[in-house]
Amino acid sequence: MRRAALLSIFLLVTVAGPLRAVEDPASSLLQLEYHLILEHPNLHLVTVEITARQVSSGSLDFVMPAWSPGRYAIYDFAKSVQEFQAAGAQGQSLPWTSLDKQTWRVDLRQAGGVVKVRYRVFANDLNGSFSQFDPTHANLNGPSIFMYAAGYKPDPLTLSVDAPKDWQLISGFSASTSERTFQVANYDRLVDTPLEACAEAKLAQFQEQGKTIRVAVHSYDDENTDTGKLLEGLRKIVHAEMALMPAPDFEHYIFIFHFAPEVSMGDGMEHLNSTQIIVRGSLSSNLDEALENAAHEFFHLWNVKRLRPVELGPFDYTREVYTPSLWLAEGVTTYVSYLSLLRSGLWTRKQFLGRLCDEIRALEEAPGRMLMSAGSSSFHAWYYDRSPQMQETNFANSTISYYNKGALLGMLLDLEIQSRTQGAKSFLDVLASMYHKFYEAPPVTYYGPGRGYEEQDILEAVNEVAGSDFTAFFEDYVRGTAPLPYSRAFAATGLALQISVPEGSPPSIGITSLPDNRGVRVSAVRPGGAADRAGLGRDDLLIAVDDQPLATEDLDKRLRAYPPGTSVPFTVERHGRRDIIFVTLDPPVPTLYTIQELSGAAPQQTALRNRWLKGK
Ligand SMILES: [Zn+2]
Ligand SMILES: [Zn+2]
Repeated sequence: MRRAALLSIFLLVTVAGPLRAVEDPASSLLQLEYHLILEHPNLHLVTVEITARQVSSGSLDFVMPAWSPGRYAIYDFAKSVQEFQAAGAQGQSLPWTSLDKQTWRVDLRQAGGVVKVRYRVFANDLNGSFSQFDPTHANLNGPSIFMYAAGYKPDPLTLSVDAPKDWQLISGFSASTSERTFQVANYDRLVDTPLEACAEAKLAQFQEQGKTIRVAVHSYDDENTDTGKLLEGLRKIVHAEMALMPAPDFEHYIFIFHFAPEVSMGDGMEHLNSTQIIVRGSLSSNLDEALENAAHEFFHLWNVKRLRPVELGPFDYTREVYTPSLWLAEGVTTYVSYLSLLRSGLWTRKQFLGRLCDEIRALEEAPGRMLMSAGSSSFHAWYYDRSPQMQETNFANSTISYYNKGALLGMLLDLEIQSRTQGAKSFLDVLASMYHKFYEAPPVTYYGPGRGYEEQDILEAVNEVAGSDFTAFFEDYVRGTAPLPYSRAFAATGLALQISVPEGSPPSIGITSLPDNRGVRVSAVRPGGAADRAGLGRDDLLIAVDDQPLATEDLDKRLRAYPPGTSVPFTVERHGRRDIIFVTLDPPVPTLYTIQELSGAAPQQTALRNRWLKGK
């Protein structure tokens, strides 16, 4: 990252073109004070003041991040900034200019060694990347609130918060809720520590391996406020995951939960010693979802927050940061969360195997699995990790999810390593070994501890732990798009994947669709399927089959009337014009995925199976 930053300075002085914020590591420290003022909740406006002392340069750039680490999407948080102003040592106004949409350059020639900038940010989204300030709380995610002084991200700073007197301040900054001033190591730590300020959140805590685990629950459902089952589940998850990995280097960790029936969708976001989990629904009816999120986000404290791809910290907040390794950072985190839910006793063996079947089916039904590798899916996360999409895309047919394929790669690597080492080692040993090697290494930047891993390091760590060569595995399944070897992996454990057609399945037309009040709207056409061969396309409105209207009758129910191979006339509306298109139906698609325990498995297979499903 440092080399890239130096390159941009070189470009600045030698090439005519758009100016960029100066990002060079400054030679002297600034004294940085951040002041957060929470005083206008009904308009959702958060006020931020940043004071920098000992400034000696002719200007200073203040930059609003374009994205928030953990969510690989360009959101341009600067669009919510208003009323930016700058003042010098005596309070005199300082001139400033906009360098680009997210950079304010303040002229310091008359500053007197001090600059104070002040701005307000509109914040009304309860979400793991955005922020919300309203009369009930302030739930703030740093990158959407705080600018940084370009070139001074590594500098220590203080944060002070003015909030209503009865609001508790809940965050990974402090285990106390009454502290209002915090010493923060640098800007990255500031924005990696979400802050919940609230009068009504419930707090609890427990200990695990000498670490304090805190839980804050802000529930908007006044009928369901009992946190007992949530806390019981969290204890089990934390206990199970702490047993899998080396002890992390924090004193306290906090889960910040919101149960909010009115949010458009739930979310979870990992941080160094905290997590934000937003559940759409209530504490009682969405408990399982909350615990599943918690199992995923808690494991991130190792995988991605500490053991991290080299590209993910320190961050360039102004633009996309590309890594081929999100399949490991996200997908494997999902796989391990499933294992820990099983081993904690929160899931039965049946639930665990059932979830793996869901993952297998999701990948096998994605046409994009033939086109996109796990590495490429990771690299292109910026297109689809909750990015705003104004233009129609073909993602349904052209992409896969690095969560989904990554979880399956985690499972397959786990089983393959256990099989090759006769159960002596597992993929968790690889993660632990990488944690020691990369995170517990001397820091190479201010962002440390440790250093990030590169793509090749994953293969090397697997080879070292397993004592055998996985090059072909990585070429075929991580960098390539070869069909995943489920059968071989499950056979080693005396399990078998069975894929069958559910009884009563209709013949296949090869589309996904959405209901429409006049029929059925095609949302994707499977390449090579019956609809594709007949010339049906996305957005076509299927009005009727054989003159039987689809507005009042389910499409599957209609299709059950025909044997596979029948040519069926569809009334199709396209750009407002009607046409008849004949579709020759395919046989029903096998959509029932189950993993069966084989009777008569050899003792070696049974031993591996038990070790996998029960843990050590
Ligand atoms: Zn809240
Ligand atoms: Zn995640």
